[in-house]
Amino acid sequence: MSSKIEDFDYLVIGGGSGGLASARRACAHGARVALFEPGALGGTCVNRGCVPKKILWNAAELSHRLSQFSDYGFDVEPSPRFDYARLRRASLNHVTALNGFYMSRLAEAGVEIVAESAKFVGPGLIETPSGRKFRASHVLLATGARPQVPLLEGAELGITSDDWFQLTELPKRLLIVGGGYIGVEIAGIAHALGSNVTLTFRGATPLRRFDELLVHTLAEAMRESGIEQLSEFKPKRVVRSDSGTLSVEADDGRSVSGLDAVLWAIGRVANAKPWAESAGIELDPRGFIRVDEYQNTSVAGVYAVGDVAGKACLTPVAIAAGHHLADRLFGGKPDSKLNYNDIPTVVFSHPPIGTVGLSEAEARSRYGDQVKCYVTRFTNLYYAVTRQKQQTAMKLVTLLPDERVIGIHVIGLGADELIQGFAVALRMGARKADLDRTVAIHPTAAEELVTMR
Ligand code: NDP
Repeated sequence: MSSKIEDFDYLVIGGGSGGLASARRACAHGARVALFEPGALGGTCVNRGCVPKKILWNAAELSHRLSQFSDYGFDVEPSPRFDYARLRRASLNHVTALNGFYMSRLAEAGVEIVAESAKFVGPGLIETPSGRKFRASHVLLATGARPQVPLLEGAELGITSDDWFQLTELPKRLLIVGGGYIGVEIAGIAHALGSNVTLTFRGATPLRRFDELLVHTLAEAMRESGIEQLSEFKPKRVVRSDSGTLSVEADDGRSVSGLDAVLWAIGRVANAKPWAESAGIELDPRGFIRVDEYQNTSVAGVYAVGDVAGKACLTPVAIAAGHHLADRLFGGKPDSKLNYNDIPTVVFSHPPIGTVGLSEAEARSRYGDQVKCYVTRFTNLYYAVTRQKQQTAMKLVTLLPDERVIGIHVIGLGADELIQGFAVALRMGARKADLDRTVAIHPTAAEELVTMR
């Protein structure tokens, strides 16, 4: 074992979205950077999150479109067959290509890639299992999070979203626990691709923190499509029957049986504990690394970005925070930091949701009667000739007296793509009058946002 210490400017632990972005940006500023990642590069987003999910979501959207082909005059006989294994192989190939792409981009940037885990053995001093030692004045923790599994009898019989992406065939009968992003997204995908899905959530509705217009429109769309929803459902036990199927019992006596899979989608746990134990890094009560607005942890010279820091756990947030941090440490921008307000987000449900800013309820609790909302509901022209229809709903939340737009909420065909541009307007401080002044593009769904009365 060598005792030589390798000196760098920046040690980045974790090769997911935040770590990769920060490492490359620091290199671009001339820093000597080493990045530690024992697994595939790309983290949750690339390997078992956004990327494979979006491919499956596309497939699910296509399956919705298939039923509309004949409405649009196409005869598609016989009915197309769906080969999940083929789609999964294609998705895996794409993910593998991305892993290689990230590897070569890091190498080109000049980042030293260490395919090992890392642990602190002293301030600014990192050691790997093979005995290599690294030292730097700045260390970034970007170790992400993992799915949470509840502490209840039979929980190990369930699967998580990580396992979901490993399945070689879809379960015929699936029960999902949790009505957040992952629960709602997997419910829609699995249902569209042929599973019989029950979505359960412990409150009255899924997506509890979203604007109620979105929640109710989505709940209705899911109901119409055939996804069963069980509210106030708190699982107590999972049991495997003699026939091999699973049943889930709730604490109020309800029970769902005959299941091929139970999926836990109840949030995520930070990969943070080792840092608290080995380096005394402070965690918040939820177990995420506590950081200030500059991503500083409680230990000088140690920073955290992305899901491990638990603030707006979204890929672009991790990337942006990683960039700002590198700019601050190595790019001569001592005040660089991410503004965590008004982060736009999409839920890839069916139909999709695009949202930015405050929900009406949040706005009213903050500003009371100073809030004025505009709401519209309509059927997208796409559905004019189809037998099955899907609703679009939109809400603008504005603040009086000048009607500054403080929330934009859209559910419906195209919501996922249109929200980005409107998020720019909101971030720039757009007033309702600015939207009114913008000439509409006809016929689109987006035009409704600039023609609301
Ligand atoms: P979320 O925080 O979105 O949702 C968790 C859900 O689980 C909520 O419905 C919550 O209920 C419920 N829940 C929490 N604890 C329990 C419990 N003990 N028993 C039963 N239900 C429980 O987490 P997800 O796991 O869905 O996703 C993790 C994060 O990943 C998201 O928050 C998001 O940041 C990110 N993500 C983003 C995506 C995107 O951008 N499209 C897609 C997927 C994930 P309640 O509402 O009552 O608290």
